[in-house]
Order: sequence, then structure tokens, then C-alpha cells
Amino acid sequence: MKMVFTSEDIIYLHHLKNILEAKDIECVIKNDRLASISGEIPMGVCWPELWVVDAMHEMWAKQLITESKNKCAEEDNWTCENCGEKHSARFSDCWNCQNIKAF
Ligand SMILES: [Zn+2]
Repeated sequence: MKMVFTSEDIIYLHHLKNILEAKDIECVIKNDRLASISGEIPMGVCWPELWVVDAMHEMWAKQLITESKNKCAEEDNWTCENCGEKHSARFSDCWNCQNIKAF
């Protein structure tokens, strides 16, 4: 078993698990159940963790996760609904017309 990724975002972790399983990489999420009580525990102590069952899959899994994150960043680009200006994900409002990004 090898841990390949940890995040406080359990939804995202499940998303990555689906991606790995689609490639026949067997994996498990640890600390899943603890996420609901994380407010009472110092940050980082009980973040959910994504593990690959077969350690030989570690590098491949990490590669897939990196690719997924890059793809994700591209998809987060957004277009202002008000003026049609295109923005990268790091901007939360339109520099052109100050319209707030719609979620
Ligand atoms: Zn705009």
C-alpha cells in the first residue's frame, strides 16, 4: 500500500479514485469517516488519504493525479456572463466590468 494523495476535499479524493479505478488501479480512501468530525481536530491530522493497494502503481497513480489536476485547472477557466470576457480560474470577478463570477 502506498499513499498517493491527501486532501481535505473528500469529493475530490473520490473523483481521483474513480479516475485511478478506470485505469484498473486498485485504491482505497482512508480516514473517510473521520472527515465529518475534522472541525474538532487540528487541521491536517485526519485529512482523507488516497492509497493505491499495489505499491507498483504509485508512480503511475501520481502521474494520473497530476494530469487530472492540470486538466481541472483548464476547465476552471470562466467567461463573464455580463460582458463575455474570458478569465482564468484565479480571478473571482471580471476585471472588465466587475461582474462577480457565477458559480
Ligand atoms: Zn465582465
